[in-house]
Amino acid sequence: SLTISSRAAAMKPSASIAAKKIVADLRAAGEQIVDLTIGEPDIPTPAHIIEGALQAMGAGETHYTPSAGEPALRQAIAETLQREKGLACSAEQIVVGCGAKQLIYETFAATLDPGDEVVIPAPYWVSYPDIVTLHGGSPVIIPCGQDTGFKLTPAQLEAAVTPRTRWLVLNSPNNPTGAVYSRRELEGLAEVLRRHPHIWVMTDEIYEHLCYEDIRALSMVEVAPDLFDRALIINGMSKAYAMTGWRIGYAAGPRPLIDVIVKMIGQSTTCASSVGQAAAVVALTGDQRCVSEAAAMYRARRDRMLEILSDVPGLELNVPAGAFYLYVGIAAFIGARTPAGKRIATDLDFSLYLLEEAKVAVLDGGAYGLSPYLRLSFAAAPDAVEAGSKAIAAACGALV
Ligand code: PLP
Repeated sequence: SLTISSRAAAMKPSASIAAKKIVADLRAAGEQIVDLTIGEPDIPTPAHIIEGALQAMGAGETHYTPSAGEPALRQAIAETLQREKGLACSAEQIVVGCGAKQLIYETFAATLDPGDEVVIPAPYWVSYPDIVTLHGGSPVIIPCGQDTGFKLTPAQLEAAVTPRTRWLVLNSPNNPTGAVYSRRELEGLAEVLRRHPHIWVMTDEIYEHLCYEDIRALSMVEVAPDLFDRALIINGMSKAYAMTGWRIGYAAGPRPLIDVIVKMIGQSTTCASSVGQAAAVVALTGDQRCVSEAAAMYRARRDRMLEILSDVPGLELNVPAGAFYLYVGIAAFIGARTPAGKRIATDLDFSLYLLEEAKVAVLDGGAYGLSPYLRLSFAAAPDAVEAGSKAIAAACGALV
């Protein structure tokens, strides 16, 4: 019989990937489900990027690349960081991976020893704690509630620091809340980090370009360039360029860290896809209108979702400044009964009620480490946003 390692046994499956499968299974069984769990753009990759990939394939760019990534792509990324964030960053400080996720994975694999602590503000992207645990680290989860806009405060960070703290993970714009840290908020956190030189900061900026409130999502290292010698920027092509399936992400940081991540990649995936990398060069150096158009489109969907749900008594709406999710508070419904007589005790119960009775799939706040909330994605098509939001409103009204 199969023996599973204790590491693998301790790992939870990704909640969002699990939800995708549940929806696919229900649909295969003939059910009509509105899917508001999706964590990726529903639009196709822009045509000029696809064209670039086709040309690269035709030109024979179909071989292994260096483990750090193609020089042309590393250069394009370094120039993007210089242009957009004013960072003094060379191509040698960049590593390309199979999505941002691989870079987060290899970073923790390369830097954590058993008992090392990683500070993760909650709610968090579902994968951080599990990747930390897999590599022997201890996630230190800090609940960041609605009162601080779901953001970590300097006092909370200070209180969490121990001699074993290795990393702080900051994700702005945030999945699942859409929260975007302001310059002042980042400065406050930077002050704490300066007092504790042993802590590194991982800034996951994958939703950077999906920002809706006429603000630009700032990077911690832009606000505090002095911290760039112990910071790792994580970013990628998935969300801004609708390129989730191409699996291209990147990290930027100090040479010694980048070099060890490159070594890890050399012994895991060898390199990211050559064709994907060629497409990423086109995406980063080509016309950027596709990015602002996508952001405008998500913003319209966000506003429509907020409009439909704003009338629903009991739902606590938090306007997301970025990313493409609404993190809705449902405390008022805990303890309520469904028309079928079931009691709603948790946000997971609420999400199952929505799936069974309203035929809308959403993710529960428990998966993101802060309850009771639901995460509703507005990366779904406009008719799904419309129908799903209305069905949720009706389902809330049917609870007693
Ligand atoms: N970081 C956050 C906050 C995400 O939401 C995601 C994807 O959902 C990722 C990283 C991973 O993105 P990639 O497709 O580049 O692996």
